[in-house]
Amino acid sequence: MKSISIIGAGPAGIEAATILAHHNYQVTVFEKSASAMKNIADKAFLFPNFVDAKEIVEEMCQKLVDNNITVKYDTDIVGIHRDAHGWLLEDQKGENYFADNVLLATGYTPFDAHRKEELGYGIYGGVVTSLDMETMIRYDRVLNTVGEKPKRIAFLQCVGSRDEKSGNHYCSKVCCVTAVKQAIEVKKQVPDCEVYVFYMDLRMWGQGFEEMYREAQQQYGIRFVRGRISEASGTFDKRVQIKSEDTLMGLPLRMTTDLLVLMVGMEPSAGTCALAKVCGIAGDYGFAQSADPHLHDNKTAMEGLFVCGTCKRPMSLTDAVNDGRSAALAIME
Ligand code: SF4
Repeated sequence: MKSISIIGAGPAGIEAATILAHHNYQVTVFEKSASAMKNIADKAFLFPNFVDAKEIVEEMCQKLVDNNITVKYDTDIVGIHRDAHGWLLEDQKGENYFADNVLLATGYTPFDAHRKEELGYGIYGGVVTSLDMETMIRYDRVLNTVGEKPKRIAFLQCVGSRDEKSGNHYCSKVCCVTAVKQAIEVKKQVPDCEVYVFYMDLRMWGQGFEEMYREAQQQYGIRFVRGRISEASGTFDKRVQIKSEDTLMGLPLRMTTDLLVLMVGMEPSAGTCALAKVCGIAGDYGFAQSADPHLHDNKTAMEGLFVCGTCKRPMSLTDAVNDGRSAALAIME
């Protein structure tokens, strides 16, 4: 029986684990957190059908149980070495594990909004991230800093993506649609709240996304402003003043809002950066690099070492699950 070590219990890693277990591989999944699907568990509802993220997390975790897959939680793989027989992995306690093949599914981490000091995250209570907003939506607690229903909320796209200053020139792919989804959720919970979305471009690339964008404008009255917010500051009544430019109208703009929501992008997780480097497959920005993005996107330059999901680049949940399946097939081949 062939053995496979999968590093990361996110959607891509779990999907690959399930298929390989079905095909009689001896699968071990290593997860450095205490639970699986952490990045999805942080969400409230998922686009485009507003399904509860909890349902997806439960279904994916059930696959691990149903297939008797060994998952080692709180286990951070810090070393990977190849010898003549296969792969030797080492965890943070110095314990070793052997496998014929290794699949990196170490995922992404959300951009740390503190790094954009001019936007005031961690300084002004009214500045929150898209992750904070997910929690507010989930618990029906969309409130301003004094615990009242907000009268105005502004969303800002591309925080930590397509951004010279943070060094991330790439697009994180899912934050446009997430902003539209969150804006709709806010309007459902607080119908009287004015909602603005500040964007550079709206990249509504997936099935049903464009329709959701139209619905946001026509049914919910959400206003989309083409422009970047350059600065946020606090006001005496604990609101946030933002300075921007409407680039379609060519006009500078100031606005006071109860909440400013920073749509943070994706960066490679610490595990992705470290392991991609150790294995010699570190690509742009620290993401793991596959052998070829067209035809061999789950293989790497190292024989027996495979990659899948957001450790390679930003992608949606659907794409990550499909990429896990694709990796399983590449490994079986
Ligand atoms: S998906 Fe939208 S918000 Fe996210 S980085 Fe790309 S353009 Fe910006």
